[in-house]
Amino acid sequence: MAVLVADDVSRRYGETVALDGVSLTVEEGEIFGLVGPNGAGKTTLVRALTGTTVIEGRVELFGTSPQHVDRERIGLLPQSFDPPERLTVRELVEYYGGLYDDPEPTETLLKAVGVADRADTYYENLSGGQQRRTCVATTLVNDPDLLVLDEPTTGIDPAGRRTLWQLFEDLAAGGTTIFITTHYMEEAEQLADRVGLLADGSLAAVDTPANLVTTYGGESLLYVDGAFDESVLELFPYDCSLGEGRLTLRSVRPEAIGDVVGELDEAGFSYESLRWTEPDLEDVYLELTGQAVSEAGDADERTVSAVAGGERAR
Ligand code: ADP
Repeated sequence: MAVLVADDVSRRYGETVALDGVSLTVEEGEIFGLVGPNGAGKTTLVRALTGTTVIEGRVELFGTSPQHVDRERIGLLPQSFDPPERLTVRELVEYYGGLYDDPEPTETLLKAVGVADRADTYYENLSGGQQRRTCVATTLVNDPDLLVLDEPTTGIDPAGRRTLWQLFEDLAAGGTTIFITTHYMEEAEQLADRVGLLADGSLAAVDTPANLVTTYGGESLLYVDGAFDESVLELFPYDCSLGEGRLTLRSVRPEAIGDVVGELDEAGFSYESLRWTEPDLEDVYLELTGQAVSEAGDADERTVSAVAGGERAR
């Protein structure tokens, strides 16, 4: 069953077209990841889906408009969410739980997001990552059937991010539908069943991460640095090129690397190093948006260095 439907959704701010005819559906229990450069319209889409901005087009949540849907069924984490700072973590989650008739037990939620050991700390004294986890806990107080999360893991360290991925996966396995925006490509790739790539207010592509990589990611590449001359190209029947002492072979499967090495040895070529890379969602992003992920926003250091390094070694 489609839990979330967007049909030809547009939003203009004066001359600016923030969303330009976006259509998508998200099925029950699915995790849908939305990625795209800054200004692509992600937050506007989240607001459109949750009925917090006026739109052209149609949005339905559980078969009804966002304005009429049962709020008990929805959990929303906006990108900027500033809860009262002079409450402790426990008080804060209890405060939001108090808005519902039958809230989830606070301790369970604190454990689930990994801030149980900070329960008595004032929100303002938490690290950015702990604050964000606490915010995630507040969206779960009503055990929502649909979770809409705008960059839920921004500022959270990689280990903490994984804790939340596991939590989201468990929720989805239990039937919760999750719509999540992120600028971490690894997050989209690992977590989302399907990924939508938003660029200039339009969905440039929607598919499973694996299909996106196959369609848009380009080929795997094997780089071999050594003392080569042109004759090395004759050794390999597949696509290869030579430049500045580097032999580049396209579309070599990892299991065939041994054969390449064997052929080089047999032909008497020596090499210094060998590196194999395969495309991933960052390459898809680059292909479809024309931007490296590091240019897209507050990418963390790991992402920046991976992109700055050219290719990612595996
Ligand atoms: P993203 O979340 O992908 O960074 P946004 O949805 O925030 O993108 O913004 C999409 C476009 O709409 C941007 O050009 C932005 O400047 C514009 N925009 C967003 N909100 C407003 C607003 N309240 N008033 C005017 N322009 C806005």
